[in-house]
Formats: sequence, C-alpha cells, structure tokens
Amino acid sequence: MIIVLKPEATRQHAEELLARIAALGLTPLHMPGTERVVLGALGDERVLESLHLDADPLVESVQRVLAPYKLVSREMHPHDTVVDVGGVSVGGARVVVMAGPCAVESPEQMRETARAVKDAGAAVLRGGAFKPRTSPYAFQGLGRRGLEILRDASRETGLPVVTEVMEVADVALVGEFADAFQVGARSMQNFRLLQALGAAGKPVVLKRGMAAKVEDLLLAAEYVLAAGNPDVILCERGIQTFETATRNTLDLNAIPVIKERSHLPVIVDPSHGTGRRELVIPMAKAALACGADGLLVEVHRDPAAALSDGRQSLDPRQFAALMRELAPFAAAAGRTLT
Ligand code: PEP
Ligand code: MN
Repeated sequence: MIIVLKPEATRQHAEELLARIAALGLTPLHMPGTERVVLGALGDERVLESLHLDADPLVESVQRVLAPYKLVSREMHPHDTVVDVGGVSVGGARVVVMAGPCAVESPEQMRETARAVKDAGAAVLRGGAFKPRTSPYAFQGLGRRGLEILRDASRETGLPVVTEVMEVADVALVGEFADAFQVGARSMQNFRLLQALGAAGKPVVLKRGMAAKVEDLLLAAEYVLAAGNPDVILCERGIQTFETATRNTLDLNAIPVIKERSHLPVIVDPSHGTGRRELVIPMAKAALACGADGLLVEVHRDPAAALSDGRQSLDPRQFAALMRELAPFAAAAGRTLT
C-alpha cells in the first residue's frame, strides 16, 4: 500500500502514521520525496483498512501496489535506482561494463586480463572463484584462493570486483573480497541465499534463471530487498528456448519490460546470452539500444586456453574493439561509456 501525504503533513504526522502501521504488524516504509512524503505499508493490506486512512485529513491518497513484487516495483518507487558498486554507479548516466574471465584461474591470467579490460575502459572486474558447473567433472573454481587472486587484481587496477556466491555458508567469505555478489542463473531461486544477501551489506547482481520468467526474476529480487538490501542489479543472461543455434536465447524484450515494471538497474550478459564470441559485439550494441544500464562480458587473455566458457570469451583485442564500437551506441542512447 502506498500512502501519499498532503503537502501540509508534518514529519510528526508521518511518524505517527508509521508507528500505527508498525503496530498492526505491517512493515512501515518512509519515502520522502521532493514534493510529497510517501509512506508504504507491506503486509496484509486488509489489516491496514482498520486504520481508515482514507478519512485522515492529511492523507491525499491511498493506493494498492498491484504488483506481487512490492519493493522492486515502479509503483512503489517511481524513480530509477542507482546502485553503487565499489564507487561505480550502476543505473546512472554511464553505461557500466563489467568484464573479466568466466573463472579466476591463476594470478597471471587474472592480472593480464584485468589490465586489458581496465585499459579498454571496463568499470568493474568480474571473475568466478566458485563456479556452478553443469558437470561435476568440470573446473569448479579456485574457491578462497581465487578470491585472493581477484582481490590482488582489483588492487592493482583499481577496479571493483563482482564475483559469484553459490551458498549461504560462503556469504561471509565472499563478502570479504567482493564489491558486489553475483547470484548465478542456477541460484536465482535459492531463496535462503537471497535472504542471506539481504543482510550482507553489499550490492547483488542477480542473474535471471534460464527457465525463469521476468516476474520470477523480480520476485527473486524482492527477497533481497525485503530482507533489507536495496542494492540489486538485475541481469538478463539468456533463457532456454527451442532454439539451438545459440547457447541461450538472449531475451532483450526483458530490458524494456523490466524498466517499465521496476526501478532497479538492469544489465545484459551477451556472453552467456549467445555462447559464441562472434555474437557478443552485436548483442552488446542491441542491449544498449534497448536501454540496458550495463553489460557483463567474459574476457580471457587466451580464450583457447580458458578453463571455462572459452568459446564465448573475447580476447583483449576483441574487447577493446567492443568498447570502441559501443561508444556511438551509448551516445545514441544518451549515455556515456567510460
Ligand atoms: C557466469 O557468469 O560465469 C555464470 C556462471 O553465469 P550464469 O549464472 O548466467 O550461467
Ligand atoms: Mn561463464
């Protein structure tokens, strides 16, 4: 429920209403705007009726939030949210490119790749230390050692890092090293993990599950916000369809759909979205054209030798070409790139 107060309502009046909402067992929200103070109440809306807010002389209107994802919805929060990832704003004027290898493999691999993506204009470094692999025999990541390597590369380049966390037990460890947690497609509906990240104090890049609807993604984000963390970045990374020409079908419809429904920033991963490096540049351009706030791109110093996702990884030269070719698309979308 959204409660819009009249301009003459005082702070004391707002606080009194919030206390009454809390006393009913609902979660009160205070959302002061430039012109009006807006209050929110989360929980069973029938309970709220007992307050008779419609009859309050200082209440201008009372509206139900129709979307099932309340905190994530634009109804509740009309303005775009900007998320700070280690000093880099995601959702603002600059399109943020997050780049790096699929997996952290060695200090040299990470250092070289990090330098290359930094030089080409990436704003955030990526790399997985805990890898969710389809096969149990595939490279599973270096774990803690990988996080240390990632931190060294981050210090050397000054780029903040995003890295995946796969389970609740690892949240504290990953949080020591990461500027933002990545929740992978396979974990999008790990609800206990999402709740734990609500209390983890760092932003979350939440990837869409490969069989998840946009609504499922928004409800997954709601878990994180409802648990106390407003800093969620949504990521479209392709879904499974009947099409087999590409690894996944990058659903760019999702970008304007999410923008319509939610205030959270949205980025696009054209690497997993296509599975082939030749398709990364065209789909990255398309992502900017339809309103993405950023990109997540896999780059490896030597893709042929990569321990995971080499087929979809750009080499440093190709990544530099991506950044050059993206510049006019960013400008056409009214954004900056570096
Ligand atoms: C990744 O980013 O390397 C990854 C595993 O992505 P996804 O969860 O989208 O498959
Ligand atoms: Mn990958």
